Amino acid sequence: EHLLGRIEGKGAELNAFISVTPDQALAAADAADARRAAGQAGPLTGVPMAHKDIFCTRGVRTSCGSRMLDNFISPYDAHVVEQIQAAGMVCLGKTNMDEFAMGSSNETSYYGPVRNPWEPTAVPGGSSGGSAAAVAAGLVPAATATDTGGSIRQPAAHCGVSGLKPTYGRVSRYGMIAFASSLDQAGPIARTCEDMALMLEVMAGFDPRDSTCVERDVPRYTDALSGDLTGLRIGLPREYFGEGLDPAVAGAVDAAIDEYRRLGATFKEVSLANSHLAVPCYYVIAPAECSANLSRFDGVRFGHRCEDPVDLEDLYKRSRGEGFGAEVKRRILVGTYALSAGYYDAYYLKAQQIRRLIRDDFLRAFEEVDLLLGPAAPTPAFDFGEHTDDPVSMYLSDIYTIAVNLAGLPALTIPAGFSGKRPIGLQLIGTHFDEARLLQAGHRYQ
Ligand code: GLN
Repeated sequence: EHLLGRIEGKGAELNAFISVTPDQALAAADAADARRAAGQAGPLTGVPMAHKDIFCTRGVRTSCGSRMLDNFISPYDAHVVEQIQAAGMVCLGKTNMDEFAMGSSNETSYYGPVRNPWEPTAVPGGSSGGSAAAVAAGLVPAATATDTGGSIRQPAAHCGVSGLKPTYGRVSRYGMIAFASSLDQAGPIARTCEDMALMLEVMAGFDPRDSTCVERDVPRYTDALSGDLTGLRIGLPREYFGEGLDPAVAGAVDAAIDEYRRLGATFKEVSLANSHLAVPCYYVIAPAECSANLSRFDGVRFGHRCEDPVDLEDLYKRSRGEGFGAEVKRRILVGTYALSAGYYDAYYLKAQQIRRLIRDDFLRAFEEVDLLLGPAAPTPAFDFGEHTDDPVSMYLSDIYTIAVNLAGLPALTIPAGFSGKRPIGLQLIGTHFDEARLLQAGHRYQ
């Protein structure tokens, strides 16, 4: 009740939520109490949380930040939603996000942007800006989010909280509205690595309903938190410290390096030579996959339908024209072009080849080091409107997060200081399925 009150006040001011579900929340809290009374409570039983509005929730609107799904009440729960519910967590509502998770600032949401709790003129980051702002403002202790090219890590960094993007395949994508299927991955946003470890233990695991979900045991991430970092080998990717990095961010990262040295880690410079190709590569692959995934929103079976269509083609055109916002349309156009006959080899196929080179760069680095460390974003949170007229400058704000998705790796961001009032995030990147080590390294720093 206390947090529902905060969501009504502070939450509304920040525009952090698209839907609040007090009735379901109070019923779930009662059920959690009963479970505790019966001695069946787990560590998360009764803990309030919120889901990014990209996860299907049975009986509750699942909008994905789009007018297209403004009227969509999901008939089923996403795997992640089921898992969180089974752990006894209490969902208070659905958080605001960029439309179909396409954006880095929350400015593409049909429901209006989320404000950064630290400074109202600053963006919260995106696309999971609602989840990050909700945790930062103390509306919920934890939230779910998704990361296709940085959408967990970058908003967590901009809001001064912790965010973890697990290895591709670690968490089932069943019931998570698809943006770019070969990149999308769900993960937690919370205040600490300890909280994220608890969340990941619940979210991760095999689910046969997602064919890319990996059949592999889920470690007890919380057990891995203790233990010291003596001898941990951390790599510093040369390309992540070059031109375009804000001096305050560079200073915060340097201070973190000193702290890790004190904790016993050793450092080594490494090279991810194809890093400069990550943004162009991603902005071919992600739009290509989104153009295919979003073809299902045709005004026929669910979602927005235009009024009085004259024929089927008119129904498709107007429903999609009205239902999607400008950024989503831009991506569908770019993706359709990249996949079209005659251009496929030049764009999509080429991007897939570059993707392999980017992955190989990481794997080569991990032959020498255990983790990579660098900034989460080139600057602290920028102002509203700063990049809206120039999509490419917006896309460049993803420069340090996107390669991780192309390579399928796990990575997390944790708070590492401030520039004025605006938080700065530190990023740690691990090799495939090394979430335990990432969480341990993040935990020791916190
Ligand atoms: N900012 C990136 C984009 O706009 C990443 C979004 C995401 O991770 N969902 O595509």
